[in-house]
Amino acid sequence: NAKTVKSLYKKPVDFTEVDINMLPTVLIIGRPNVGKSALFNRLIRRREALVYNTPDDHVTRDIREGIAKLGDLRFKVLDSAGLETEATSGSILSRTTGMTAKVLARTQFAIFMIDVRSGLHPLDMEVGKWFRKHAPRVKPVIAMNKCESLQGGTGSLAETVVEVYKLGFGEPIAMSAETGLGMTELYEALRPSLEDYMAQVLNDSSTQDKCSSEDNGSCEVDESKLPLQLAIVGRPNVGKSTLLNTLLQEDRVLVGPEAGLTRDSVRVQFQFSGRTIYLVDTAGWLQRSDREKGPASLSIMQSRKNLMRAHVVALVLDAEEIANARRSMTHAEVVIARRAVEEGRGLVVIVNKMDLLKGKQNEKVMEAVPQEIQTVIPQVTDIPVVFISALEGRGRIAVMHQVTDTYEKWCSRLSTARLNRWLLKVMSRHSWKDQAAQPKIKYFTQVKARPPTFVAFVSGKTHLSDTDLRFLTRSLKEDFDLGGIPIRIMQRTVT
Ligand code: GDP
Ligand code: GDP
Repeated sequence: NAKTVKSLYKKPVDFTEVDINMLPTVLIIGRPNVGKSALFNRLIRRREALVYNTPDDHVTRDIREGIAKLGDLRFKVLDSAGLETEATSGSILSRTTGMTAKVLARTQFAIFMIDVRSGLHPLDMEVGKWFRKHAPRVKPVIAMNKCESLQGGTGSLAETVVEVYKLGFGEPIAMSAETGLGMTELYEALRPSLEDYMAQVLNDSSTQDKCSSEDNGSCEVDESKLPLQLAIVGRPNVGKSTLLNTLLQEDRVLVGPEAGLTRDSVRVQFQFSGRTIYLVDTAGWLQRSDREKGPASLSIMQSRKNLMRAHVVALVLDAEEIANARRSMTHAEVVIARRAVEEGRGLVVIVNKMDLLKGKQNEKVMEAVPQEIQTVIPQVTDIPVVFISALEGRGRIAVMHQVTDTYEKWCSRLSTARLNRWLLKVMSRHSWKDQAAQPKIKYFTQVKARPPTFVAFVSGKTHLSDTDLRFLTRSLKEDFDLGGIPIRIMQRTVT
């Protein structure tokens, strides 16, 4: 049948066209000094890396992330160090190791490097054991590095190959991170599995597109289970980075004024109760130059284009500023909130730094923010507002609960039968001023989800006024629990 034919036909994946959000992650592992960073630098070329920890004397290196380019392959690459297995609890060493374990959890692929000059080292065995324990699903490509430096014959190489099989990860490739030797082999070793992975991910997202443009409610895929694209937006210093740390539950993004951190357009992905969340263009507001523009500026993240890529927009406000100001939202914040709603995104407002409020301020802020949001965005009722303290690490569950709840509502699909039963009731509930002028809706249907969009087929001479549309929107929201998300109703005339 058609489905089997489709799955047999495999179109080559064009990695250069893939949103970097979606690219697979390849982690480079290995004991110190095997050449992990040399390979990392070669893969990302001159592009900048995202550095998670500043280098420290006691630690060889920190976790860096970048977008790798290898032929036509693109992937996220992580340079990991600190795989040392010594138990130096509390030290930076063990912290790095712990962090790597978390990073491992969302790594799909790995390159396990060894130094061919020293053959298989006992520490390589340790790293192998460690890796197998923490990432049992990932089968790394073994890369024997520094091959260009082998003098004369291939004796040592052949011996190492035999030894490397002891690691139990299969056939190694020979390479040199410094000279670029063996990059084709690395490409060939990675390409098939990366392509399979990518094809699967793209297939998922094309199903998603197909469903959202479908004209009837029958869609096999539960769209609300697809990856959620979340944008965290707000003015500089409201606590976005701090919140991000809380959400990720690990030290992957540094907060505060530490010097010398470089970050580029790498996006972050994490899991929340079994769901994959992609953070859309987080780097935009992490850039220092952007922060230095001062509190008035909204970062590039908030461009219309970026908002369009998000499913849910989390707008972060500063509670302390609200407590001391006449209004809860600055002009820029209002603009961004309105824009998110106009673009049909789900909006969640996060009021951060609640720990700084004293006495009555608490109540004042908790009352003022929802009120003001209702005033500035009257078209969407019940936009969720979450009060948190990112610094104290409080609010992760509350934020993620609202974000996923909003997303699920945003993905809602109501069957035509259900909608028309509802319509009968709701039309009789409404007290029409002029019975004669009462619009006749023949048929009501949802044409699209993400966000939910409806069409009312109105008969001949009648017409739905703005008031009628508002009434229908409000009723839909109340009766189907769709508060807090933008809903669209269009009308078509039928004869
Ligand atoms: P890491 O600790 O695993 O990240 O290792 P580095 O990338 O810092 O490399 C450790 C040392 O090995 C450095 O002095 C590099 O210049 C050197 N190195 C890395 N790759 C190669 C290679 O392919 N050939 C040779 N000869 N040296 C290399
Ligand atoms: P960003 O520019 O929006 O990413 O803001 P940051 O996350 O860098 O935070 C700016 C400053 O606010 C930092 O000094 C944080 O420590 C501080 N901060 C962030 N969240 C909170 C919070 O919940 N309470 C308090 N008291 N300070 C916070």
